[in-house]
Amino acid sequence: MPPYAIRIIGDPVLNERAAEVEDINGALVRLADDMLTTMYEAPGLGLAAPQVGVQKRLFVYDAGDGPAVLVNPVISESRGEWAYEEGCLSVPGLSWEIIRPKEIHLTGYDLDGNEVSFEADELLARLFQHELDHLDGVLLLEHLDDDQRKAAKKALREQTMAREAAAPPASAASGGLRLP
Ligand code: ZN
Repeated sequence: MPPYAIRIIGDPVLNERAAEVEDINGALVRLADDMLTTMYEAPGLGLAAPQVGVQKRLFVYDAGDGPAVLVNPVISESRGEWAYEEGCLSVPGLSWEIIRPKEIHLTGYDLDGNEVSFEADELLARLFQHELDHLDGVLLLEHLDDDQRKAAKKALREQTMAREAAAPPASAASGGLRLP
């Protein structure tokens, strides 16, 4: 079992703006480790703290160069446009081609408290923008047009119904008195 269950759309924690990290301490390092384990088991390329129910501005990622953590990230510049098929661990089973800036400049802190700075483009820029959205309480659905959003909500309702049919809530399964 991964250390955390990933929160799914509908959970209000995914719609709130997360708070700045004020202290990089042992607890934060453990949180980042547990988030990385959860991310690799999912599997995903990135995971933001609100996705495991923690309202702090940090995310973990691995874009192919090994595990990394960014604390209090800020995008200071963005340029161009890039279309890319984007999904989210908190919006399971769905993805859409979404246009976002192609290149960004991002600054933040690593777990040693050192300031870090990235010129990112394409996939890495997309990953950073996606995770930063999570820290601002924004999910992919907010990037869709009205028709796409309606279709997405219908698909998500059907997923929920299918999940509940496959595994009825414990209260229903064990419910009360059973007469012959
Ligand atoms: Zn996501």
